[in-house]
Amino acid sequence: MNIILLGPPGAGKGTQAKKISEHFSLPHISTGDILRENISNNTSLGLRAKSYMSRGELVPDELLITIVKDRLSRKDCSGGFMLDGYPRTIPQADALQMILTESGKKIDAVLNISVDDEELIKRLSGRRMCKCGASYHVNFNPPKKEGVCDACKEKLYQRDDDKPDAIKNRLVVYKKQTQPLIDYYNRKKLLRTIDGSKEISQIFEEVKNVLEEYEKL
Ligand code: AMP
Repeated sequence: MNIILLGPPGAGKGTQAKKISEHFSLPHISTGDILRENISNNTSLGLRAKSYMSRGELVPDELLITIVKDRLSRKDCSGGFMLDGYPRTIPQADALQMILTESGKKIDAVLNISVDDEELIKRLSGRRMCKCGASYHVNFNPPKKEGVCDACKEKLYQRDDDKPDAIKNRLVVYKKQTQPLIDYYNRKKLLRTIDGSKEISQIFEEVKNVLEEYEKL
């Protein structure tokens, strides 16, 4: 199964993606994670991406298209994949379509996780991250000891783009550049919208039901 997760920043794409990846044994491809890894390794890609990301802007399409083309060509994607955070623009979606067509593949489902702005702002501004990949929220999912990761005991940090000005910008960017993809995939009859304001486990139940339908096709 080849899946795309769509939704505004803070909708819980990353959280659901981890669960989907485990349950359906699909590689989780998060372009945000790939870019952050490049930033922490000081690669030339990381250096180019850093300023866009910290302002909450999108990294140029040509960089993302190269990243995704390379990642999808790896062996672990031969039995399916799940894209989280890509595509974010119409040119990225068109490029994906071309990449997949060239290798005789197609998108099976696009899950659009929907959450209103007020809730997104609450979620993003309270989010705290750990180097190990764990994610917390100061109110909704606090660590046992304030500021410290339960799993690896490292100090938690706030992503630069989870700070107030960057959050505002990310929501504006989402509406202008990414939201048109809802219509794009709706027209292709691939879109399924899921209410992302519920509990994590309830959302996953809905996601599972939708994907199991596709698995049977
Ligand atoms: P995320 O972890 O998905 O919230 O992504 C964090 C940031 O990485 C975004 O705000 C963008 O600056 C950048 N980014 C991730 N994926 C993309 C993409 N497909 N196109 C452009 N920029 C991206």
